Amino acid sequence: MEKMLEVKNLSTVFNTDNGTVQAVRDVSFDVGKGEILGIVGESGSGKSQTMFSCMGLLAGNGRVANGEILLDGKNISPLAFNTSKDYEDTMSDIRGNDMAMIFQDPMTFLNPVLTIESQLTEPILNHNDISKKEAHDRAIELMKKVGIPSPESRIKQYPFQFSGGMRQRIIIAIALACNPKLIIADEPTTALDVTIQAQVLELIQKLRDDLGSSVIMITHDLGVVASMCDRIAIMYGGKIVEIGTADEIFYNPKHPYTKGLLSCIANPEDKEKKQLNPIPGSPPDLLNIGNWCPFVDRCDKAMKICKMKMPSQEDYSDTHHASCWLSHPLAKEGEGE
Ligand code: SF4
Repeated sequence: MEKMLEVKNLSTVFNTDNGTVQAVRDVSFDVGKGEILGIVGESGSGKSQTMFSCMGLLAGNGRVANGEILLDGKNISPLAFNTSKDYEDTMSDIRGNDMAMIFQDPMTFLNPVLTIESQLTEPILNHNDISKKEAHDRAIELMKKVGIPSPESRIKQYPFQFSGGMRQRIIIAIALACNPKLIIADEPTTALDVTIQAQVLELIQKLRDDLGSSVIMITHDLGVVASMCDRIAIMYGGKIVEIGTADEIFYNPKHPYTKGLLSCIANPEDKEKKQLNPIPGSPPDLLNIGNWCPFVDRCDKAMKICKMKMPSQEDYSDTHHASCWLSHPLAKEGEGE
């Protein structure tokens, strides 16, 4: 599959009063054209900061310390990392035309005192040389595409006049305004109830099918990505600890953290009503993280070597990779015990 996005050895840090937070640590992955990749992890695992780094949207105290980003084969690292003179203009063009983000909280993203029309036509007018009438027509078309009924009258309304699910559809319409090649959805269903969640996920999947865009779905909930992602990357402690196709992750997980996430998902068809097993403990402090397995303090399979060295990546298939000492020959020989 041709690649839409390639991220190579990305490391992102944040300077704080207490020291340097290593939010993203040597992360590499790619997304194919027309593919949906899920990035799953707990809060603070580095999943959102990875994508903010790619879009040049880091907070003022953040910076990319290392890495390379290729979008549709073009190296955009100097722009995304704000080290190019053309940063402001060119990166803003890339963000509108080539990649767009669907943010998680519509009420924070939408301006409550502006009509939907002005918020939807703004990116269209900024990125295209067209008249206000043409932008208005395009906005109506986008509202229809994301399933908002009576768009001709509703376009004049304000965000508070829409339900949570409809507001999230407007956010998706804004992201689609310039037909981006890559859509990054950052926890797009977190603020929604379960039935609306399903509708929004279905919509994102349908848009990928209709428009052929690539999608990166960031979520803390493995259940959310189960039915819609082609591949899934599991992040923990600023690193990708396992990546594979959805089937490989769900039916043949290798990393103890992935197994732990799966054991937290309720199965309504389970007649035995097995108890859910939450992962004990809390995520590591990225301010003081060592160069060893980040999951060591919560892992019931941990060995001595796990706290001495970072596990190298093991390949289980062309698409399935995990970083855990358990699959290393030395660990099997008991060297790490
Ligand atoms: Fe557990 Fe060790 Fe594997 Fe880390 S490397 S997940 S601590 S067994």
